[in-house]
Amino acid sequence: MRACPISCTAVKQQFSTCSRKPKDVNQMTRGNPCQLPGMLPNYDPNDNEAGMKILEDLTENVEQIQQRVLEEIITRNARTDYLKGFLDGQFDKQVFKKTVPVVNYEDIKPYIERIANGDSSNIISAEPIIELLTSSGTSGGQPKMMPSTAEDLHRKTFFYNLLVPVMNKYVDGLDEGKAMYLLFVKPETKTPSGLMARPVLTSYYKSNNFQNRPFNRFNVFTSPDETILCSDSKQSMYCQLLCGLVQRQEVLRVGAVFASAFLRAIKFLEDNWKELCSNIRTGHVSDWITDPGCRKVVSLVLNKPKPELADLIEHECSSKSWEGIIKKLWPRTKYIEVIVTGSMAQYVSTLEYYSGGLPLVSTMYASSECYFGINFKPLSKPWDVSYTLIPNMAYFEFLPVKEKNEDGAQYVQCNGVCKENCMEKETEKEDVETVELVDVKLGQYYELVVTTFTGLYRYRVGDILMVTGFHNKAPQFRFVHRRNVVLSIDTDKTSEEDLLKAVTKAKVIVESLGILLIEYTSYADTSSIPGHYVLFWELTSKGNNHLPVLDPKIMEQCCSTVEESLDSVYRRCRRKDNSIGPLEIRVVQHGTFDALMDFCVSQGSSVNQYKTPRCIKSGEAINILDSRVVTRFFSQKAPFWELV
Ligand code: AMP
Repeated sequence: MRACPISCTAVKQQFSTCSRKPKDVNQMTRGNPCQLPGMLPNYDPNDNEAGMKILEDLTENVEQIQQRVLEEIITRNARTDYLKGFLDGQFDKQVFKKTVPVVNYEDIKPYIERIANGDSSNIISAEPIIELLTSSGTSGGQPKMMPSTAEDLHRKTFFYNLLVPVMNKYVDGLDEGKAMYLLFVKPETKTPSGLMARPVLTSYYKSNNFQNRPFNRFNVFTSPDETILCSDSKQSMYCQLLCGLVQRQEVLRVGAVFASAFLRAIKFLEDNWKELCSNIRTGHVSDWITDPGCRKVVSLVLNKPKPELADLIEHECSSKSWEGIIKKLWPRTKYIEVIVTGSMAQYVSTLEYYSGGLPLVSTMYASSECYFGINFKPLSKPWDVSYTLIPNMAYFEFLPVKEKNEDGAQYVQCNGVCKENCMEKETEKEDVETVELVDVKLGQYYELVVTTFTGLYRYRVGDILMVTGFHNKAPQFRFVHRRNVVLSIDTDKTSEEDLLKAVTKAKVIVESLGILLIEYTSYADTSSIPGHYVLFWELTSKGNNHLPVLDPKIMEQCCSTVEESLDSVYRRCRRKDNSIGPLEIRVVQHGTFDALMDFCVSQGSSVNQYKTPRCIKSGEAINILDSRVVTRFFSQKAPFWELV
């Protein structure tokens, strides 16, 4: 059992509100018996009943726990540079909510930059910031950086451990085999002061909490840690698949964090199964696997030549159709664990094709800022998934939002599945007050705002959620969409503004040749793996209304210019991770965008207020555009990307 930062006995008692209200921070930090650093109850993660009991207590006592969390965060951090400026020596929760503003990343960026540059004073957190977590959200083209503390790793471990009893409640016998989870680390860098800056999962997998995790019989992986921690993503993928194939009879579930990563693994298998089978046949791992850790552990798993196993896998993989391949290769698999909500919903049908009808399980909702919620009904269909926010993770507030189009019709994209016609609308946000977790209303839409133990105060996460119900007293939320994101294939998040900037740069190239871009829109094409961005362009020659003759080299340059102009997460996915394919421009015939408008109007858009949607989600609208494509061009080179 790992050492927990607190040792507590009765869970209920831990979450109860302190009846003695301390008057000042000194009183609160000087041995107050109600002080429970981190508010993380200690229990044996192998004990399902204890885990479920904790979840019941957490969801029953939401109000008290949320108040306790806020009290503790303020108490610990009231003297930080950031809070001092607003609280002026007061430690009252009401003062906090009145004076501390709801902020975006741009507001806190100067504080984060001070930390990155080595200012060691208590800038945003009394606890030392040990690293910065690079988010897939960007600011000025670069990943946003979120603070992290040593204690926060324990909070994540606590959260991961709670996923186990929930799964065990619905699926029996998970301790009778293994999980083939394909997990990867990403490139990391250092800030000018030497702090590590890396994605949240890379940070977690490299931590002691992950690497020295106590044995949990419900959570035994086929991938040895060395293969997960290998920084060469190709070697890592190859070795993890090899280990998964060799142990195929033991595998009870397969997965990756996001659906896009799992599909990438299937594609990798399609491209490499012959070599994998040859390794299994000979008992010898390919020479290009040079990472010493990987070679050592994979050789141990391979152990000896297994010609029969190789024959069997070869037989399945050489079949013309890969429909249901997961069930064929890993016959005992009970479900696929991948996040298929939000932008990942676009992969559901492809996953269903490969899975042969296995349940797709989205277990959790989390971010670099904080881990938020757990799916208490893991076997529900992707579009029915809701997450229950866990009240001791952070202090949660909600900005009510209206989700409407200009005609006033409800306009919602639930779990990433667009329910309306062809476009996603940006959320309207009026200057409204936040509501607390216990005060959210069923059926209402909210933007999530968090105050974390790591130094974010009233921070807008950018996710729009809808209340779908309650588990005990804890509200459950459906992930609706991310604010301002129109295109996403993997962890990239491209906004309408990012797209406009990139297209504006590229269109200069054709304009200099007397060609005008009169309309454009886009969509994320995930019909092949990896998916790629598609832009539909309607072009005309200056001076006449004819479709110009297009030089392929020039158009390919336009594709590359768009890619070069997108943010660093897009460029990393495209160049380093290979999780996004080359961007495509499809040139459409004259009048195509008029046809698109006619379609949108027929679906209820107002003619007067019609604006061309800059991203298309509806299959019907995409068909209208696709049927008018004259010619298509692809980017011929991956955009520049480097770690900064
Ligand atoms: P990052 O900060 O790069 O880790 O990205 C976190 C963001 O990914 C969240 O704020 C969400 O927008 C999205 N995300 C994470 N988990 C889920 C989920 N289960 N369903 C939908 N979107 C998710």
